Amino acid sequence: MGFRLANVDGRAVLVHDENVYDVEALSGGELGPDPTEAVAAGVKLHELAAAVEDAEPTAKLADVFLGPPIPTPRHVFGVGLNYRSHAAETGSELPSIPMIFTKFPGCLVGPTSEIAVVSDSTDYEAELVVVIGARVRDVTADEAWDAVAGLTVGQDVSDRGLQFATTPAQFSLGKSHDTYGPTGPFVVSPDLVGDRDDLAIRCEVNGEVRQDDTTANLIFSVPDLVAYLSSVLTLYPGDLIFTGTPAGVGRPQGKFLHPGDTVHTTIDGVGELTNRCR
Ligand code: ZN
Repeated sequence: MGFRLANVDGRAVLVHDENVYDVEALSGGELGPDPTEAVAAGVKLHELAAAVEDAEPTAKLADVFLGPPIPTPRHVFGVGLNYRSHAAETGSELPSIPMIFTKFPGCLVGPTSEIAVVSDSTDYEAELVVVIGARVRDVTADEAWDAVAGLTVGQDVSDRGLQFATTPAQFSLGKSHDTYGPTGPFVVSPDLVGDRDDLAIRCEVNGEVRQDDTTANLIFSVPDLVAYLSSVLTLYPGDLIFTGTPAGVGRPQGKFLHPGDTVHTTIDGVGELTNRCR
């Protein structure tokens, strides 16, 4: 039995049908309220989700405001140039090892939060985000999915001016302005998403389709990325990996985000984000 884990007012909740269930209450206090800690309790979350129909809902999903499902990860990794189509549109060579940067965790916001646009070169990047569920080091690609608690949708909002302001370019700050990391709506356990290695991913801006691809076209797959990162450092429960974006970002077309724009990001089986720019 899979689970959908979300964050309401800083408290972990399980989502089932149209309802949310407070994880601490549902577990009789066995699990605490912190969503970032809850994601480490994968087996328990599956058990709770299986029993949720006998429990009293905490609230209707439609009546709550969702925060970022993992609000305080220890690490947030980004991957540059991880789709052939996107490498081509930027005129870049295909990488032979993953090109990793960080989004500082303070940029994370929820699935319907506003993006506070702070430059006239702010761009969208629809991405599949991996949520780590265990403390791991040196896992192989074959073992990697066992270290993944679930998947969520992310927008790697990027200030291109700041991203390329220095020589050599340094991506991390340009991708870390406050609100430049929408995620959610839920952490969905991989058993619920259909084919976890082939998920349709799209981004629309004001209803116009800008990105439309599948995660089957990742150069470095989810297992490749987990194995690579865990060969360098220890991964912790709640760590996020933004796995890279397909072709169609704004920069090559000169189409940047402006206040009033609405960014709609969808991954089939995982969920959707709707973020208005201000
Ligand atoms: Zn990105």
